[in-house]
Amino acid sequence: MIEIKNINKTFGDLQVLKNVSLTIEDCQVYGLTGPSGVGKSTLLNCLAGLDSYDSGSIVVDSVCLEALGEKQARLFRKNMGMIFQNFSLVSRKNVYQNIALPMECWGVPRGDIKKRVYELSEMVGLKDKLKSRPSELSGGQKQRVAIARALTMNPKYILSDESTSSLDPSITSSILNLLEEIRKEMGITIIMVTHEMPVVQQFCHKMAILEEGEVSAQGDVKELFLQKPPALQKLLGTGERNHIPSSGVNLTVDLSFGTLLWQLGKLLKNPYTMVDSDFFQFRDQKYGNVTINVDTEDLLICENYLQSHGISYRAERRAP
Ligand code: ADP
Ligand code: MG
Repeated sequence: MIEIKNINKTFGDLQVLKNVSLTIEDCQVYGLTGPSGVGKSTLLNCLAGLDSYDSGSIVVDSVCLEALGEKQARLFRKNMGMIFQNFSLVSRKNVYQNIALPMECWGVPRGDIKKRVYELSEMVGLKDKLKSRPSELSGGQKQRVAIARALTMNPKYILSDESTSSLDPSITSSILNLLEEIRKEMGITIIMVTHEMPVVQQFCHKMAILEEGEVSAQGDVKELFLQKPPALQKLLGTGERNHIPSSGVNLTVDLSFGTLLWQLGKLLKNPYTMVDSDFFQFRDQKYGNVTINVDTEDLLICENYLQSHGISYRAERRAP
């Protein structure tokens, strides 16, 4: 588990991270999202030890990173593999040599390096490309090399900074599928910095939105997409739906419970109106929520029904 507690970071006069606190549970995919320039990469770099922070604390598996000496911290961070948008491969080295690089730095014996490179290149589907240079590979293949390289030291965490942002949608899907397979097989936790909402929806369990260095929303992905806090509305480019209808209560409900609308409709004193719907692929499930407008006098009936069935919802009272 990673606990980031009250991290502050400035570059000169610019305060880039303001009291950022997050908890990332094991074996999950945690999405860190927000507009460009809000401090996502800086936060990830603080976690990876590529950047320092002015105050606050990072605790990984009960180890407080500030309490470690430089050497110990470097050793500890073997636990973390990083992948980047620009792949960061060494252009004059071939695929084999790029994957082998971290193991050479850590002084792993040659025979073990060879075994691990073959193992990992098979896992990422690049066994026949070991002699190729990065310039001879597609973007997706380069990212596979970077993933293999990040896995060499058996990390418990993968930190990914916009690793799919320069790839087209079908390659993005294949990279996300690969990461998901690896996550399940090796029990890895993935922290995914991305500004791409489909990546968050399809791949992440939990998410946090950063705005100007502050966490403005965080929680379960499905729940946040239902509650649509202002920070998420801004990212999705959707404003509040203030235009329809102007009275009653707009009730947005999680549709995972199949016969919900039919059941609810039977209980109400007045007919409801369908206002909006939102469907997306959440990991391996289709997920949807629907907004209905109900009469104010029916709200209590709805809330009782939804709460007694444990169904998530959001109610917005309209001006009378
Ligand atoms: P994001 O990843 O969300 O796009 P970054 O973490 O890269 O944002 O940057 C956050 C802010 O910090 C930006 O205003 C950026 O210009 C600034 N910044 C990032 N790195 C440095 C640096 N090394 N020196 C000075 N300012 C930086
Ligand atoms: Mg960035």
